[in-house]
Parts: sequence; C-alpha cells; structure tokens
Amino acid sequence: MSECLFCKIASGEIAADRVAEGPGWIAFRDIAPQAPTHILIIPREHIGSLNDLDVARTELAGELLLACRDVARREGVADPGYRLLTNTNREAGQLVPHLHFHLLGGREMGWPPG
Ligand code: 5GP
Ligand code: ZN
Repeated sequence: MSECLFCKIASGEIAADRVAEGPGWIAFRDIAPQAPTHILIIPREHIGSLNDLDVARTELAGELLLACRDVARREGVADPGYRLLTNTNREAGQLVPHLHFHLLGGREMGWPPG
C-alpha cells in the first residue's frame, strides 16, 4: 500500500472534495485554499513531479492539461482568468511528492509569484 498522500486520495482511502474525474486523473479542492477557486488536478498513477513525467506518458500529460482546462470552465474562471502551476521540487516549494497542478482563480493574481 502506498504511503503517498495523493495516491491515498486517488484510491479513496483518504477523503477529498472531488469536483471532477476522468480515467487517468482526479480533481479535488485544496484543503488550504489560496484563492476562491483552488483545485488540485492529479494523475491517478503515482508520478513524483513533472520531472518524472516521461515520453511514454504523453497521452496522460495531454489528458491532464485538458482536464485542467475543463475544470476551469466548470468553475467559471475560464473567462475571467486563472492560474495553473505545478511546484517542482524544493526551491519551488513542492510539499507533496505526487504530480499535481494547482488551478487558482476567482481573484486578481499578482506577478511575479513569490
Ligand atoms: P505543493 O506545495 O506540494 O505544491 O502543494 C500541496 C498542496 O496540497 C497544498 O496546497 C496543500 O494545501 C494541499 N494539501 C495537503 N494535504 C492535503 C489533503 O489532505 N487534502 C487536500 N485536499 N489538499 C491537501
Ligand atoms: Zn502518489
């Protein structure tokens, strides 16, 4: 059994507020939202970070990106705008070592990010 938090959310072992899912991915609300809309989109399969996404997963990579686009539409942030990001490793502040995209929206975003 995996000790990975997001693998446990993907399997249902740990509850999360799911907003959408597909064959290869799930989307759920971040437990500590940094914006009115803050959703995490993750592959069901364990992939540590974007660094570990190899060319054999090209189809999954596209699926994830389109899933993010669709969740943004569904949340009503596609038109006003949103930010999609994936923290990768220590300097970016990645805390959960399972690939996830943060979808943030519902407020003005600052630039550059911290
Ligand atoms: P990272 O810093 O790795 O890019 O982001 C991890 C994100 O996961 C954080 O925004 C954090 O609030 C969120 N998170 C951590 N634990 C849980 C959890 O148990 N459930 C949910 N829904 N989100 C979590
Ligand atoms: Zn995992």
